[in-house]
Amino acid sequence: MARFVYVNGQYRRYHEAGVHVEDRGFQFGDAVYEVIEVAGGGLVDAERHLARLERSLNELQIEAPMSRQALLLVIAETVRRNRVREGLVYMQVSRGAAKRDFLFSGKSLEPTLVCLARPLSRASREASADKGISVISLPDIRWGRCDIKTVMLLPAALAKEEALKAGASEAWLVDRDGFVTEGASSNAWIVNAQGELQTRSLSNDLLPGVTRRTLFDVAQSLGFQVKEAAFTIADAKNAREAFNTSASGTVMPVVKIDGKNVSDGLPGTISRKLREVFHEHAALYPLGYGFHRPK
Ligand code: PMP
Repeated sequence: MARFVYVNGQYRRYHEAGVHVEDRGFQFGDAVYEVIEVAGGGLVDAERHLARLERSLNELQIEAPMSRQALLLVIAETVRRNRVREGLVYMQVSRGAAKRDFLFSGKSLEPTLVCLARPLSRASREASADKGISVISLPDIRWGRCDIKTVMLLPAALAKEEALKAGASEAWLVDRDGFVTEGASSNAWIVNAQGELQTRSLSNDLLPGVTRRTLFDVAQSLGFQVKEAAFTIADAKNAREAFNTSASGTVMPVVKIDGKNVSDGLPGTISRKLREVFHEHAALYPLGYGFHRPK
């Protein structure tokens, strides 16, 4: 349970924290977010996440609520107040609150910044990675700027509900030409017949995942080739291995797609290796917290 939440300059108790009823994030989905992993005493790939946040804000012409350095201080303090040693930070920036109106230019809106930190046990995450997860495929019904990390997550929420009903935990979204764009909340990868790590190249159709980016570094240091090319569900079903990447799941082996086993239906050796060494390659922004009791 997150006990303290940062909202616009104040650390509020979780049950008392709130934003304005006319916040544009609430009315228009006019907001962007980031999720950063807390592990090993620091924030994993913080600079890359904050760079992506800045890009998302820029693309939507939302004013940055504060500098990157100030944001890091807010995050660190939120983590400290919630005594999170392993878990996730969630941060959201909306364009701000104003009388409901589609138009936003010339309104001098103050962006709304919310920051939460929650523990997430390593053991539970490792347990799902040890088993691997099942995914289902669904049509990608999202908008044309999936490269921006907006809170317009209804298609992803519906897709995950569909996955749950089918006994799976993630949905791989498929474009009109039959190629996988990405997972509902992860990037999709396969190990193809050539032994290359294959993932779709970046475009407006998918999120430039930070874990995806760092995995390029991991792959290089382990001597794996990465091929940036789209693949179909049939390709994935016949692949040597399949996996997802995300800040919350790191490298998550995919063992079943639409009910069909990938290879022998067990997490692949390459996926497991990539997961095992991931944090040795990811940058860590040290939090340096002493966990004293918050006032
Ligand atoms: N794609 C989508 C649609 C996502 O929601 C996420 C997770 N936020 C990702 C990919 C993975 O991105 P990252 O590795 O930066 O968490």
